[in-house]
Amino acid sequence: MATQTEQGAQNGNHQGKGTAVVTGASSGIGAVYADRLARRGYDLLLVARDGERLNSVAERLRQQTGRHVEIISADLTVKADLRRVEERLRADRAITMLVNNAGVGATAALIDSDIDALEKMIDLNVTSLTRLTAAVLPGLVERGAGAVINISSIVALSPETLNGTYSGTKAYVLNLTQSLRHEVGGKGVRVQAVLPGATSTTFWDRAGLAIQHLPSQIVMSADDMVDAALAGLDQGELITIPSLLDAADWEQLNSARQHLQPNLSHSVPAARYRSAVAG
Ligand code: NAP
Repeated sequence: MATQTEQGAQNGNHQGKGTAVVTGASSGIGAVYADRLARRGYDLLLVARDGERLNSVAERLRQQTGRHVEIISADLTVKADLRRVEERLRADRAITMLVNNAGVGATAALIDSDIDALEKMIDLNVTSLTRLTAAVLPGLVERGAGAVINISSIVALSPETLNGTYSGTKAYVLNLTQSLRHEVGGKGVRVQAVLPGATSTTFWDRAGLAIQHLPSQIVMSADDMVDAALAGLDQGELITIPSLLDAADWEQLNSARQHLQPNLSHSVPAARYRSAVAG
C-alpha cells in the first residue's frame, strides 16, 4: 500500500470541524462527499485504490477549499492495507467523521456469478466497513462527538432487485447502522445509513450493467444524492432514503418491524406449528 502524507496528522491539532475520512473517494458518490465535506470545513483523509485519481480529487479540493487533504491509496480487501487504515482511524484524534462509502455491486444471479468476486464484494462491503467502524468508534465515543455515515442501498429493502449477495451486504450495512444507533446514539456520536437508489456513477459498469440500460427517471445524479443525504444528516435522520417521496412510508415499515419484536422469541412454537412438533 502506498501512503502519501503531506504532513503528520497524528497530533489532533487541526482547526475547525476535524478530519472526515471518506472511503471510495476516487470517484462517484465518495468524490462528491469529499467535495461537500471540504466545503463544510472538514479536512479530509481520502481512501481508495487508485492513487492517481485520488490525487486529482485531493489537489482540486485543496485548491478550491484550502482544506488539508491527505490520501491513502489502499485496497480495502487486502488485509495489510485495511489494517493500516484501521490503525490510522484508531490513532488520529483529529478524525471526527467516517464515511463508509467504498463498495462494489453485482447484477447477475447467484448461479451465474463468479463466487470469488462475490466473496471479495463481501470483504469490501461488509468486512472492511465493519473493521473501519470498529476502529474509529472508541475514539468518537471517548470524545463524545463525531459521525459515522454508512452507504447502504435501496436494495437492502428489495432483495429481489440486482444480485442477492449485494443486497445482503447492504442489508447488513442497514442493520449494523440501526444497531449502532442503539449502542452509541446516547454517547454523542451520530450514525446514519444512506440508501441511494440508482445513482449515475461508474458503479453500474463495474457491476456488469451499463447505466444506459436503466430508465432515466429512476437514476439520480451523485451530486443530488449526496446533497440529499447530507440534508438528512443535518435533520438528524438515522436512515436516509433520498428518493423516497414520503418519509412516513419508511416509518411505517420500521414500526411494523418493531411490532414483531416482542413476539420473535418464545419458549414454545406458535400454535400453527404445534401439531407438526407433536406429530
Ligand atoms: P463508484 O463510482 O464505482 O465508486 C466506488 C468507490 O469505491 C471508488 O472510489 C473505488 O475506488 C472504491 N473502491 C472499490 N473497490 C475498492 C477496494 N477494494 N478498496 C478500496 N476502495 C475501493 O460507485 P459509487 O456509486 O460511487 O459507489 C459508492 C457506494 O454507493 C458503494 O458502496 C455502492 O454500493 C453504493 N451505492 C451505489 C449506488 C449506485 O447506483 N451507484 C446505489 C446504491 C448504493 P478505486 O477503484 O480507486 O479503488
